[in-house]
Amino acid sequence: MNENAEEHSTGVVTAGSGIAGMTEAPGVTRPGVVNDGGAARVVHGAARDAAAAPGPAAAPPSRAAAGDAAPEAPSRTILHVDIDAFFAAIEQQRDPRLAGRPVIVGAGVIASCSYEARRFGLYAGMPLSEAKRACPDAVIIDGHAQIYRCFAEEIFDRCRAIAPAVETFLDEAYCDLTGTERLHGDLPAMARRLKDAIRAATGLTVTCGLGPNRMLAKLIGKTVKPDGLARIDTAGADAFLVDRPIEQLAGVGRAHARTLRSMNIQTIGALRALPVAALEALFGAPGRLLHERCRGFDTVAVTEREIPMTISRETSFHRDTADRVEHEGMMEYLVGRACRTAREIGVRPRTVSVRLRYAGGDGDEHARSLKTPSHNDPVVLELALDLLRRLFTRRAALHSLGVTLSNFVRAEGEQGSLFDEREAGRRAALYQAFDGVREAYGHGVLVSGRALHLKGRLAEDQHGFVLRTPSLTK
Ligand SMILES: [Mg+2]
Repeated sequence: MNENAEEHSTGVVTAGSGIAGMTEAPGVTRPGVVNDGGAARVVHGAARDAAAAPGPAAAPPSRAAAGDAAPEAPSRTILHVDIDAFFAAIEQQRDPRLAGRPVIVGAGVIASCSYEARRFGLYAGMPLSEAKRACPDAVIIDGHAQIYRCFAEEIFDRCRAIAPAVETFLDEAYCDLTGTERLHGDLPAMARRLKDAIRAATGLTVTCGLGPNRMLAKLIGKTVKPDGLARIDTAGADAFLVDRPIEQLAGVGRAHARTLRSMNIQTIGALRALPVAALEALFGAPGRLLHERCRGFDTVAVTEREIPMTISRETSFHRDTADRVEHEGMMEYLVGRACRTAREIGVRPRTVSVRLRYAGGDGDEHARSLKTPSHNDPVVLELALDLLRRLFTRRAALHSLGVTLSNFVRAEGEQGSLFDEREAGRRAALYQAFDGVREAYGHGVLVSGRALHLKGRLAEDQHGFVLRTPSLTK
């Protein structure tokens, strides 16, 4: 997912005002007393009726009755912290002349854009050529990835100070606050203090969502971006979700939304009609997650990496190039990064997709599947290079290159043929060792084969080569 259209959600509360219920709450919370959410409960549109019903006994029965119901997970308390317009906000802070102006960070495509730019319909992932047409006055900045990382770490350290388990990713953090209510007292008040502290320390605003699981915490936050704070509880979840557009469900990207809309499934509620087997047939292993999420559940724990729909690594070249050696070096590097992420998460992709864009703006993409899913660099690279050679048909310079892994199976589920097993075991051990070294010293310490060609051409930091396009695409 990326930082894109999230702000287009139907925010009930206007940006920056916080949640009505929140600000009106007297904020007088006795230490050690858990606020039951009465005053602080966020009431959204259709959720109002359900939420207004007295007590947990009035939870809508519809969930249990909805066919093959998802397993009920024990309720947790998750705080989702999302940095508002992250890269663009930092650039606006670094250069006061940019304050209040539409600012885009990105090369080739938008990696992040300010709220002033979003008013023109700009979103992360949009090609810059299109963005310039929609908003000719926008200031476009290449980006300063290292600086962004410092800001993110400063913010995430504050999250780690309040929660025993924190999972961070690019510009967002999930904090598991389950069991800390006695320590923190009123959780919305605590979140407000966190927001204030982050703003004082970094000048950045964050949006906070509190909910009984990851998905709901994040989704309720989206309704109050930027600089918002909102809470949702289990009782309000069902009604909150039912009429939301299908794109808003965690795990449903643009491609999957298109598939679902073509099946006339327009809302999260409508997705409940599909049995879990149908969702798994459509989307693979993540289908099971969609099945529970559209019902308001989410069994993915904080710190547990979920199976993503895709893992993408993409960049534009520092200078457009027609040099095949450079193309293949970059492809090897991108494949290495993507495969490492797949190994970290514990998944093997079946499908590999390669895309390129020429300097003139035209692009092409091609995907093919492996016979046996694999997250080993040489296996994926062989296929990716073959796709690249088929795609790169013109004698013209390339502007950008990308690889996407998808169609995942859990790593432990893979069965190679008996003949391959000893070799596969050796290879797995080798890459495990690589990953260990890179974990300790950074991805860039081990650069192999064609990617060596990039040494000396690209700047490096402790994370590896500094790619031209910083990406918020997740
Ligand atoms: Mg953000």
